[in-house]
Order: sequence, then structure tokens, then C-alpha cells
Amino acid sequence: MIKGSDFLPMPEPGDPPAVTRFAPTPSGYLHLGHAYSALMAWEAARASKGRFYLRIEDIDVGRCRPEFEQGIYDDLRWLGLDWDAPPFRQSDHMQGYADALDRLDRLGVLYPCFCTRRQIRAEIAEAGRAPHGPSGEALYPGICRPLDVDERRRRILANEPYALRLDVGRALDLTGPLTWRDLRVGDVPADAASLGDVVLARKDVPTSYHLAVTIDDALQGITMITRGEDLFHTTHIHRLLQALLGLPTPVYYHHNLIADSTGARIAKRNRAVTLRTLRHMGKQPADIWRLIGLPDPEPATGSTSGTLAAG
Ligand SMILES: [Zn+2]
Repeated sequence: MIKGSDFLPMPEPGDPPAVTRFAPTPSGYLHLGHAYSALMAWEAARASKGRFYLRIEDIDVGRCRPEFEQGIYDDLRWLGLDWDAPPFRQSDHMQGYADALDRLDRLGVLYPCFCTRRQIRAEIAEAGRAPHGPSGEALYPGICRPLDVDERRRRILANEPYALRLDVGRALDLTGPLTWRDLRVGDVPADAASLGDVVLARKDVPTSYHLAVTIDDALQGITMITRGEDLFHTTHIHRLLQALLGLPTPVYYHHNLIADSTGARIAKRNRAVTLRTLRHMGKQPADIWRLIGLPDPEPATGSTSGTLAAG
């Protein structure tokens, strides 16, 4: 995805302290990719005498489990990472997401979407071709965008389940062109239209990844967001939401997704070996740093310059 070497420039003396976060979803145990991401954020905070926060992204109540949340704490402590406040749990902040949706609704950039996945698929198939997003997924074809106020009201009153989508076209009319800064690739024009009218509140959960992460980064005062490059394109939408809601824009660093010995990306979906399993096999934290190609964080603590390099 992103070209170029993967190293996070560490703050120079005199740079403002970085406030960073690691934000896993407790729907499984952490794997090596998480360790890589967590260490990068932790080191950026520590090297600049900033702050490092832990956020538990648990809006998806059906997939999240308490034992996985506990596993996150256990694995990070075992790795030697610490965090500067009690963990921030998204499920404790649902009112903030509702308030943000109200503000967006007052701006006229939300609409209810009653579509089922099957209807969306059928519409795309019938159209023959549909615009695709940066990850190759077909974009929502806008079926519910033109519904008039009366029909929306009638269907909502009839208890038809609905999601709330962002009308990206109307939103961009309000904000005009936007950019964001990635420490790896430079200034990036925010191309929110490339993701289409994303869902901001799901039918089953009254928020979404895009909305919750944008609100919480502002609420926690995050100044530098480090995360995998698979999330690079989502930043276009997050930048748009920041502009609509009057929130500050952090700098970003989207890092490589580390691969296992077969070259496959390490992710939950391909049954990556977990940190917990490695720990039970007798591996030490230093073995983990070596496996992900990063120096052991201990000697790096207290250094004020240099880079974290990974192959
Ligand atoms: Zn719809």
C-alpha cells in the first residue's frame, strides 16, 4: 500500500510532547501486529515525554468479551508497556457519540439508510458497475439518499431498522477541500468521497468505528495517531468528521503491516499466533521485539532522538 521505508521519526529536542494511543478491539487476543503498533505509539510518547493512552474499542458488544479485554492488559504489561490513565472504554462514552450525531444531523449531513446488505448487493448487481473504494469494496450506491422527509419519517415510525449514513457530498460542500499530515508520506489531500456515504451509526450499535474513533481521539487529546496502513484511507473520513465537528486534527503515522514468515499479513482473520500463546510457549518480551523487527524498548527509554526501524 504505502511505498517507502517504515520508520516513525522520533521527536527532536524541543518538539512538543506527543500524546499517543493504542486502541485495540477486545474481540480476540493480541498478536504480533498489535505489539508492533503498541510499541510504536508508546515509544513516540515516551521519547517526547508525552503521554500514552490505552483505549478499548468495544462498541461492537456482540464480538467483544471481558477475557479478551483482560488479555490486552496482561499482554501489554508483560511486554513492559505502561499507560498514563485508566483505560478508556468506548462503551462508557456512548452519550458522546449520540451528541455528535445530533450535531451532524443539525448540519444536514446525515440520512437514515434502511437498506439490508442484500438490497445493496442487488442494487449494485443491477447497475452492472459501481464505484469502488480504495480497498476494492463496492461503495454504497446511495439508495436512501434521495428519500424525502415524509418517507423517512413514515419508515422510522413503522420501526423499520435503519443506519445513519454521512452524506459525503453535502459534507464536502460545507467544509471545502481538506488535507491531513502523515509523517511517512507528507501532506495528504483528504479524499472522503472515495469512501462513499459511510455508516456513522449502525443498525445494531448507535455509533460506528469512524465516528467513535474521531470523537475519542479528540476527547483524549491525541496529537499523534500511529496505526496500520490498512487504516490509511479511513483517515479521509476522519478528517472530514473533524472539520464538521470542529475537532483538532492530529498528525498521523500509518505503519507497515508486519508479515509472518510466509509473507502473509498478521491479522486475526488468518489465525495469527497470539502473544498469549507465545508467552505460554516460554517466549520473552525480547523475543517478541526480535520477531517484529524492533529493538527492545528498554535501551531506547530515555533517548530523545533516533528512529524505530523495521523491515
Ligand atoms: Zn439505504
